[in-house]
Amino acid sequence: MRAAKTHNEQAAKVVDGGAAQPGAMFPVALQELLDTPRTAAQQEFIDTLPIAIALLCLVEGNPSILARNRAFLDLAGRRASPPATDGAREICPGIGLPLVPEIRDFLASDERERTFDMQEGDGISGRHFAVRLVRLSGGESPVPRCILSLIDRTQQVEGERSLRTQMLRDSLTGLPNRAAFAEQVENAMLNFETEGRQFAVLLIDLTRFSRVNEGVGSLAGDELIITVARRLVSTLRAGDVLARLVGDEFAVLLSVADDPSEAMRAARRIQTSLATPIRLGELEIKIDCAVGVAMMAPAVDDAEDLIRNAQFAMKRAKGSGHAELYQACDSTAARQRFSLETELRRAIERDQLTLAFQPLIELATGRVVGYEALARWDHPEKGPISPAEFIPVAEESGLIVQLGRWALRAATRTLAEWDRMAGSPLPVHMAVNVSAVQFQRDDVVSAVQAALAESGISGSRLKIELTESCIVSDPSGIAKVLRAIHDLDVMIAMDDFGTGYSSLAYLQKLPIDVLKIDRSFIAPMLVDRDSVAIVRAILGLASALGMTTTAEGVESEPLVETLIGLGCDVAQGFHFARPLPSDQAYAYWRERRA
Ligand code: C2E
Ligand code: CA
Ligand code: CA
Repeated sequence: MRAAKTHNEQAAKVVDGGAAQPGAMFPVALQELLDTPRTAAQQEFIDTLPIAIALLCLVEGNPSILARNRAFLDLAGRRASPPATDGAREICPGIGLPLVPEIRDFLASDERERTFDMQEGDGISGRHFAVRLVRLSGGESPVPRCILSLIDRTQQVEGERSLRTQMLRDSLTGLPNRAAFAEQVENAMLNFETEGRQFAVLLIDLTRFSRVNEGVGSLAGDELIITVARRLVSTLRAGDVLARLVGDEFAVLLSVADDPSEAMRAARRIQTSLATPIRLGELEIKIDCAVGVAMMAPAVDDAEDLIRNAQFAMKRAKGSGHAELYQACDSTAARQRFSLETELRRAIERDQLTLAFQPLIELATGRVVGYEALARWDHPEKGPISPAEFIPVAEESGLIVQLGRWALRAATRTLAEWDRMAGSPLPVHMAVNVSAVQFQRDDVVSAVQAALAESGISGSRLKIELTESCIVSDPSGIAKVLRAIHDLDVMIAMDDFGTGYSSLAYLQKLPIDVLKIDRSFIAPMLVDRDSVAIVRAILGLASALGMTTTAEGVESEPLVETLIGLGCDVAQGFHFARPLPSDQAYAYWRERRA
């Protein structure tokens, strides 16, 4: 900063005009304003400066140029008239910036410096300058003086503008892209609010395009997209906006009358325009499209909202085969799911989930040999929400990782608590469900280790229940993890067995201790002989593989008898007990021991 100022002070001593006769063009009074007469060397010096600079003073209320450098002349245009005569009217005659009032105002003020941007001419052909005025401390001069510097920013501004244009344009079709479309919709929304002008968003999805693209190659695919874009354009009226959102998805912004019939007509027009097959060289390609329509409504918050509504409608259009209009109920289900996710996240953070414990009964002896920990969510307003509802939400949102870790810790902690209450370790184990999603995303081994270490429960008293989907997704990965868990002495149970698709051959390679036979086979056993045959086959398989068996969903005494007859090891079900709160689960064990 300091260096720049020195330059300015140097420049201040330079006076324009013929070098041989300093100041010849200026009135004598003006000449006296200068600290020293300008020399050829000084002029040479300011001419080396890369920035356009001029020294100005106020003569009878008008800014005049005392000196300027070559860069300034270049910028202002060589044809500029001599400074002292013309300068009062136009400081930069070549570029016509409206500088005079600005300089006059600055010199009349007591500001040290002033910077601002200025534009010459409008629109694309305009030039842009960064302008800086710095006051020169007077010296002996009573007349206010300043240094004007101009930096031409036209290229930079144009660069920014073209970058922005690129960013808002789909390069293949030249149509506005998603960002530009959203901007247009926002603008339309402003009109909707201020002038009540109604409009609609149409979303067009080429339904089989990806397959066509694979078939004909991406070059031909590009050609196809361009043809589609052309046809879509031909269906539009002046003022409608067509955009390409992504790959095979287009959108149209229509200005329409208040009821949706006009927008629906436009949607049908679009479908008709694409109905004629498109010729690509030798090929004739039939393009199908699904069109979703959403009308602007007061409840819509922003452009994305409206586009999303059109997307909901489009999903339905894919099923029905004709253009569909967005209905509020389309998004209610999605919103409810989303709000459930938010509430579940909060419930986990606030530690509002609990565990219920369902006893596992050894059929031969009737003894309680373990408990399955099952997550419970008692919503403060909605009441109890079933895990069948919130576990899938947790899995989809990734919350299952937190939830699963919490369940492991809470279950082992509860068992440790029961041990303390009993004065010695209970001869029972604790089974905890771990979702396939958690196996994919989390380090389950370390989660198990942490839970054991924290509670002081030995590995042999913990059981992990996993479903067949864990194995299907990544067989070799899961094998490694299960072995590591097994190395901690932790038991492993295959949950809901029979409902998935795991290969029996694979089952043999995994360290699985228990097969839990799904309720859907157990429940109908008394009336359905096929179920009995299946259960018998599973029991045979388990014993061949050296696994024990647990029957799920045992609801009656006759079922117990049947299962004992077939040689099943353990049963779980409402017949014995429902999943119970911790204290009742503990009491259940106390009453039945001995
Ligand atoms: P699951 O692992 O198969 O758990 C057994 C389910 O069967 C439990 O449902 C239990 O209440 C129910 N049940 C037990 N005995 C009977 C019976 O005799 N008759 C009938 N009709 N049902 C019986 P719940 O508690 O609603 O849990 C549903 C599912 O949610 C569980 O199925 C499990 O897959 C999942 N889940 C529950 N808690 C957790 C958890 O902490 N983590 C994970 N990843 N999943 C969990
Ligand atoms: Ca289970
Ligand atoms: Ca189960």
